[in-house]
Amino acid sequence: MDSPIDGSIVLFGPPGAGKGTQAGRIVELTGKPAVSTGDMLRAAVVACTDLGMSAKKYMDAGELVPDEVIIGLIAERLEEEDAARGVLFDGYPRTIAQAESLENVAKVSNVISIEVPDEEIIERIVGRRMDPETGDIYHIKFKPGADEIQSRLIQRKDDNESTVRNRLAAYHNQTAPLAEWYEERGLLSRVNGNRSIKDVGDDIASKLST
Ligand code: ADP
Ligand code: ADP
Repeated sequence: MDSPIDGSIVLFGPPGAGKGTQAGRIVELTGKPAVSTGDMLRAAVVACTDLGMSAKKYMDAGELVPDEVIIGLIAERLEEEDAARGVLFDGYPRTIAQAESLENVAKVSNVISIEVPDEEIIERIVGRRMDPETGDIYHIKFKPGADEIQSRLIQRKDDNESTVRNRLAAYHNQTAPLAEWYEERGLLSRVNGNRSIKDVGDDIASKLST
């Protein structure tokens, strides 16, 4: 790639903040494709690729996958044609090293930080369910979904209370310092994620239109 791609957006926040939930609306609003490193890694695990096999143990333990693995994955994804006008990153970058390496391949124009307190995160993660047919995200209490789809919803293996505590620790130690890093560069917008899905989405939409 010759010069960095312009105009990417980063959805930033702890696990369970609502990044995946809000991504669909931002994709509709901006026309940029969503790039979720979590989804890409889970697909690699299912496909039993070398990358999937090496990432699995970290994911199951709730630890971050090593930077070099993630950086390679992103470089390859950004070579695809639909990334030419920027993408919506969900769950990437998660370390300062990832953010520094991203600067070589894509320019970030906006970082939306969805802020949710730890107490709320545990309930969100443990109650999260996924639709294996559509990839849509549900919650047993906050977004149960229609009766006819409820029986097919599945729970992610890493969405249990002990793993989530490791994921929160990884977030606070390795990822949270990135908020300040982006703030220093004038790119960070903070959004209160402890409200209804619609109110959070309205706030993000207004931040992206200014
Ligand atoms: P992330 O991608 O940041 O890990 P998700 O979008 O998967 O987070 O959301 C985590 C869980 O919380 C899901 O079960 C989702 O349905 C639920 N959720 C997302 N946003 C909200 C919200 N504003 N209020 C209540 N529950 C929410
Ligand atoms: P959540 O938003 O609920 O934390 P993700 O689907 O984004 O879940 O990530 C699931 C797991 O995949 C993480 O716990 C981590 O092991 C790995 N992972 C995803 N994105 C990254 C990343 N950018 N850097 C390192 N590890 C990652």
